[in-house]
Amino acid sequence: MQSPCVRAPRTDGEAVRQQLEDAELLDRDRRIAVEGEDIFVPIVDPDAVPADLEVVDHATGERETQTMPADLLAFEPSYERVGEVVVIDEDDPERARALADAIVASDVPVASVLNRASKIEGELRVREWEVLYGDSTETVHREYGCEYAVDLAQVFFSPRLATERHRVTEQVESGEQVFDMFAGVGPFVIPAAKRGAESVGVDKNPVAIEYLDANAERNGVAEQVTGITADVRETTNEYADWADRLVMNLPHSADEFLDAAMVLAGEECVLHYYDIQHEDDPFGPGIEAIEAAADAAGEEDTPGYDVTVETERVVRSYAPHEVNVCLDVRLSRR
Ligand code: SAM
Repeated sequence: MQSPCVRAPRTDGEAVRQQLEDAELLDRDRRIAVEGEDIFVPIVDPDAVPADLEVVDHATGERETQTMPADLLAFEPSYERVGEVVVIDEDDPERARALADAIVASDVPVASVLNRASKIEGELRVREWEVLYGDSTETVHREYGCEYAVDLAQVFFSPRLATERHRVTEQVESGEQVFDMFAGVGPFVIPAAKRGAESVGVDKNPVAIEYLDANAERNGVAEQVTGITADVRETTNEYADWADRLVMNLPHSADEFLDAAMVLAGEECVLHYYDIQHEDDPFGPGIEAIEAAADAAGEEDTPGYDVTVETERVVRSYAPHEVNVCLDVRLSRR
C-alpha cells in the first residue's frame, strides 16, 4: 500500500527518523522501507513535515499493530499527548469516560487523562482540567530533541505548536541574543540556546519561570538561559537595545506590547509576532500595528525602525473563520 513518507538518504535515515519521532510525526502502524540509497519513513501528517524534508507517496508494509483507543471505541476519538498526559476535549461525561478508559486500555503510554474543563483563561493562559485517570497534571514532553517538564494545571503549553517553534528556532544562529517576551516553560528559549544563542525568557507566571529554569538545566543550557518572572514591560530598561530576535507568542494581545518590543529590539532585529485574526485579512492588522509601533518609536529619542515583512504564515486554524498566524518581520533602525 502507498502511504505518505519522508524520503531521505540512507546515511541520514536515523537522524531523520529521530527528528520525525520528536515531532510526533511517525506513522507507527507502517514499516520503514528501504530502496537503493533511499529510506522511506512513513508519516502521519504530511502538512506538518518541516519544509527541508521531502514528502512522497511510497509503498510501505503494515507493522504488527498496537491496540489504539480507536480500536476499542464505537466513535472516532480525538486526543493529544503531552508527555504521558493525554488530553481530551469532551463535553459529554459518558463519552469522556469511555474515551479515558479506552486510552488507558490501549497501548498509548499514559500516566494521566485530562479533560478540558474550561477555556484557556486570563493573562496566564491556563485552563482548568477534569482529571479522569491518574493523579498528576505534571509530565515531561519531548519535542525536537528537547525535554520540557510542565504542569498543565499551572502553566500554558501546547504540543500543537511544535512544528512552528521548530521553524522559528531553526533560524537562530550561534551568538544571537534571543528574547522571548512571553516564554512559558521555555519551548522557544531552550532550543534557541541549544543553537548557541544567549536566551532570555520572561513570563508573568512564576511557575512558568520555575519550569523554564529547570528545563534549561534539564537540556544542558542553563548557562545561556536567563528566566525572569515579571510583566515584560518591567524588563525594558535592563534589556533596552538588546535583542537580535524577539518572540511574541501572546496572540490575543501582542499588539499591546509592541511599544515594549521596540525598546528591546537592537539595531537589527527579527520579530516573530503571533496573532489571531479573521481569515479574510489574517496579516493586515498585525503589519499595521507593527509599522505604527516602529514609527512611534521614532517619535521619542530613537530614530524608529524600517519594517520588512519576511514571512506571512498561517500556523493553524483557531476557530471558525479565525486563524492563528505568525509574521516574521525584520526591524532595521533608521
Ligand atoms: N511561548 C510559550 C509557549 O509557546 O509555550 C508560552 C506562550 S503563552 C500563549 C503566553 C505566556 O505569556 C503565558 O505563559 C503567560 O503567563 C505569559 N504572559 C501573559 N502576559 C504577560 C506579560 N505581561 N508579561 C510577561 N508574560 C506574560
